[in-house]
Amino acid sequence: MLSVTNLVKTYGKQNAVNDISFELQGGEVVGLLGPNGAGKSTTMKCIVGLLRKTSGEILIGGEDHLSVEAKRLFSYIPETPYVYDLLTVQEHMQFIAQAYGIKEWKDKARELLENYELDDKADKLGRDLSKGMRQKVSICCALLTDPKVLFFDEPMIGLDPKAIKNTKRIFRELKEAGKTILVSTHLIDSVESIADRIMILKDGNIVGNDTIANLKIQVAQEEGGTLED
Ligand code: ATP
Repeated sequence: MLSVTNLVKTYGKQNAVNDISFELQGGEVVGLLGPNGAGKSTTMKCIVGLLRKTSGEILIGGEDHLSVEAKRLFSYIPETPYVYDLLTVQEHMQFIAQAYGIKEWKDKARELLENYELDDKADKLGRDLSKGMRQKVSICCALLTDPKVLFFDEPMIGLDPKAIKNTKRIFRELKEAGKTILVSTHLIDSVESIADRIMILKDGNIVGNDTIANLKIQVAQEEGGTLED
């Protein structure tokens, strides 16, 4: 469903992403783990087309990631949710429906807002929402287009414990619904219960790519350290 081959992204002379290749199969949930500055956001932004890659090939559903066909297949949920201060929650859904030409959107929007416990917030303005609620609005907007692939960039940052629990529940539901998901994070705990596999990024290189159980064994054997080191 996602194929990244020899991706390079340089900022000036610095290689932020250093010739990485990986694939995600349909329905897989994969964590992109690494410390600050490892290159997670840069990788995500290159994949979704927010940053121009320096070189390499990225295919989504077999199509070039910048093609209209590929863009119909995925949604991106950034670390700071795109929520407009002066639009209500319901108006966000309407805006996305209009932008994507989705005609029959109201029932789906109602269903999503109910599922994400936002139905009683439908008339609230974006500026009056907490970070957790903003993230849920962002996810509802993303799901309204019925994407097959979801990219989450650092979804747990700035959330309180209740919102973190909620986000984990949302991930589990999305996984059960068969979505393909790539989640970038520097906290293994945020993806431990749902990720089929973890890719560890360090200084722009993939230095590990396996199940969490296997990676833990490797790290313990090699260094006596932990995955988050
Ligand atoms: P974080 O969680 O801190 O965002 P990250 O793993 O997502 O970390 P990136 O933000 O992708 O890492 O950054 C990778 C490298 O690229 C870092 O060394 C960073 O300083 C550098 N970098 C990121 N954005 C820019 C930019 N716009 N201009 C120059 N260098 C950048």
